[in-house]
Amino acid sequence: MHVLILGGTTEARALAGLLHPRVRVTSSLAGRVARPRLPEGEVRIGGFGGADGLAAWLGEHAVDAVIDATHPFAERISFNAARAAATAHVPLLALRRPGWVPEEGDDWRDVGSLAAAATALDGLGDRVFLTTGRMGLAAFADRPEWFLVRSVDAPEAPVPARTEVLLDRGPFTLDGERELLRRHRIDVLVTKDSGGTATAPKLTAARESGIPVVVVRRPPVPEGVRTATTPEEAAALVLGYRVLGRVRP
Ligand code: NAP
Repeated sequence: MHVLILGGTTEARALAGLLHPRVRVTSSLAGRVARPRLPEGEVRIGGFGGADGLAAWLGEHAVDAVIDATHPFAERISFNAARAAATAHVPLLALRRPGWVPEEGDDWRDVGSLAAAATALDGLGDRVFLTTGRMGLAAFADRPEWFLVRSVDAPEAPVPARTEVLLDRGPFTLDGERELLRRHRIDVLVTKDSGGTATAPKLTAARESGIPVVVVRRPPVPEGVRTATTPEEAAALVLGYRVLGRVRP
């Protein structure tokens, strides 16, 4: 059995580790990060050339199942995976960690896009901790506030005029996040609803300090796609599928 994992997340790496070597696993990375942490099993890097390219790849490499374990905000590849899997008649499972849920004491402002997040900053203070990643910063480029932008690789222009970049990669600690908010006198935090524990301590630190958080909510999983929430659940589904012998039609 050959499983393609569309990756780029901690969960995707964990799933590859759970499946390899019991089934043949190929993990696919977009190639955005300069030095990615590589999963076990085979790895391919770079786009497929849209849904049609991905459908062709599935056929050429005799893929029996696709797991879309990409980041909840990687909307295009998830859409392409749904189309390609349908075209190639290959079963598709989405692996999505659950989103974050506010707790008592949180001051969260939910928005639907980075552009809406930029607008939501009105009146929330001058010093912004922006943790939405290096892509899409153009949405904030005209903002007057000072930004601390934390990302794995350096962001591309345009960025806000008053920007300091902090290159770092999670997991982050609560003590570290407390210290960061204090040292930079942060007034407001902007985050995507990435879910998971690796980057959650910033939310606790913000709650403790009474700092408002602008939360960009995630796009929906493509319609009709079955979802698992943990690598273990996804691995069990894949291995059960193999045991039942339901391979390619
Ligand atoms: P995207 O907008 O959904 O995808 C854009 C294009 O990149 C896709 O059409 C596809 O190109 C290619 N691509 C994306 N993921 C791929 C993968 N795993 N393997 C091969 N090609 C892939 O994606 P994105 O938001 O730029 O994210 C890129 C990658 O970074 C994803 O794999 C995601 O898991 C990871 N990531 C994203 C975020 C985020 O906030 N968006 C955060 C952490 C990690 P073709 O059409 O040519 O196939």
